[in-house]
Amino acid sequence: VNEAGVVTYKKKPTSELMAAIQLGMGQSIGGLSSITERDVLMQDFVVVQSVFFPKEGSNMTPAHLYSDFRFKTYAPVAFRYFRDVFKIREDDFMMSLCDEPLQELSNPGASGSIFYITQDDEFIIKTVQHKEADFLTKLLPGYFMNLSQNPRTLLPKYYGLFCYQCGGKNIRFTVMNNLLPSGIKMHEKYDLKGSTYKRKASKSERAKSNPTLKDLDFNENHPEGVLMEKEYYDALIKTLNRDIRVLESFKIMDFSLLVGIHNLDLAAREKANVSLQRGKSFKTRLAQFSTALESITAKADIDDENEDENFPPGGIPARNSRGDRLLIYLGIIDILQFYRLKKRIEHQLKSLVIDGDTISVHRPAYYAQRFAAYCANRVFKKMPVQLGIVFAYLS
Ligand code: ATP
Ligand code: CA
Ligand code: CA
Repeated sequence: VNEAGVVTYKKKPTSELMAAIQLGMGQSIGGLSSITERDVLMQDFVVVQSVFFPKEGSNMTPAHLYSDFRFKTYAPVAFRYFRDVFKIREDDFMMSLCDEPLQELSNPGASGSIFYITQDDEFIIKTVQHKEADFLTKLLPGYFMNLSQNPRTLLPKYYGLFCYQCGGKNIRFTVMNNLLPSGIKMHEKYDLKGSTYKRKASKSERAKSNPTLKDLDFNENHPEGVLMEKEYYDALIKTLNRDIRVLESFKIMDFSLLVGIHNLDLAAREKANVSLQRGKSFKTRLAQFSTALESITAKADIDDENEDENFPPGGIPARNSRGDRLLIYLGIIDILQFYRLKKRIEHQLKSLVIDGDTISVHRPAYYAQRFAAYCANRVFKKMPVQLGIVFAYLS
């Protein structure tokens, strides 16, 4: 926020940024329809399309009210293929991103990235640093191979990478899947890394109405972890382990598991208290295999046990230690940091001061192993069969 009270990013009012990137994306995605669908070739990963948007308009671009800008689209054909893997229709994608104003999300992270969410709740736009954008372009062929082999993954789904250039500034951003549907109340939200060092949400974060908590907060709130029935637990851990191996192979670290917890029993009590709460019906999502439940199971369809339209879709059923019925929404986020020399030095310096094992900045293999162990042994637990029967009997 600048002196005039205007929200800015790299000194650009975010309202102008938002409008300009919507124009840019619209032109870019719309223009793709003239390139016929075909297999992705190696050279598609390195293509960068660049279009100039003068204020007065051109034969390719509409006139607009902002400063002249240039809009770049990275690997347009490759990203179109990713969207196709997730069965996102191009006109739906364009409408979601360009037709309605985006909503800015507050970011609890330290990086200063801005986040926008589309009105239909489907996509998140996150600004990324130059290095992160470069890294994503390098990652694309491997990521492509991985997705084609297996769309059931909790890795972030990148649907686009763009750059807005204006007045010598470059603002790069990705479009990805939204993990936490805003129509479903998340009673708790955690950003987990499997580390304990500095992994407690700040006081100011905890004071928010919907804070993003961290590892130590989770350990305190769920001393026995979150319980899942065997089939869900096994499917989740199998998916996570495979994803973590991919991240480790790219020497990626510092990623998090974002976990949203909807407590069905609490929600029922809240509903009983609030008489005038209008039931928002849950819309079907544009992207397939994209809910937490679909990401870990082989089925694209949700359990038909819960055909009740008031039952929130897409979450993985679980229980807390009190037996409350939970739905878990989750995915891996922030994967564009890879292990660099700077990190190594940072790590060595910190190890001198604090026990190296508890620091979140760590060698990728160690980071991956600790992350996996934390998820499989501490955060999620397999529900003992007897306990499952007792819970089912009580509810
Ligand atoms: P830092 O590098 O300081 O950790 P960052 O700016 O890179 O932060 P992220 O770690 O990617 O940001 O995300 C910050 C927060 O934004 C997350 O803790 C989560 O609350 C929210 N968030 C990020 N990605 C998503 C997503 N795909 N769906 C829903 N919420 C998200
Ligand atoms: Ca992060
Ligand atoms: Ca980050």
